[in-house]
Amino acid sequence: MERREWSEKQVNLLKQYWVCGVSASIIAEKIGDGVTRNAVIGKVHRLGLMRKHRHPSLSRLRRPKQIKAKPPVQESPPMVPEPKPQIPTTPPEPKNVSIFDLNSRHCRSIVNYDEGGMALFCGAETAGEKSSWCPYHQSIYFNHERRR
Ligand SMILES: [Zn+2]
Repeated sequence: MERREWSEKQVNLLKQYWVCGVSASIIAEKIGDGVTRNAVIGKVHRLGLMRKHRHPSLSRLRRPKQIKAKPPVQESPPMVPEPKPQIPTTPPEPKNVSIFDLNSRHCRSIVNYDEGGMALFCGAETAGEKSSWCPYHQSIYFNHERRR
């Protein structure tokens, strides 16, 4: 089919143009030296470079396998500390209420013992009707529960 030998340089030139999608007739022109379009096509066949399409884009030929882009990593916002509830930092002055004097509005935190070993209670007003403790003691017990 081809009448003349291709120099290595010409073959390389041919390959370069070919993979870039340059048409055979233009490649023949570029190589010159009497190379015809048919010669180019024949050479391409022999080199196993035949394109499926006439004018593939460069990206078609040499596109690396597409890597599926990972979704952007959602950076979790920094941990925002929970707002601390208003906790009295000092205990109320213990009223040392005995069990006999204790009523529903008295804090039931034991703060002392009398000489007979009887528990004496904080006795401060409870934090609420459903609470058994004053705000200070409630916060202590509440935090203790949460730590478990
Ligand atoms: Zn209390």
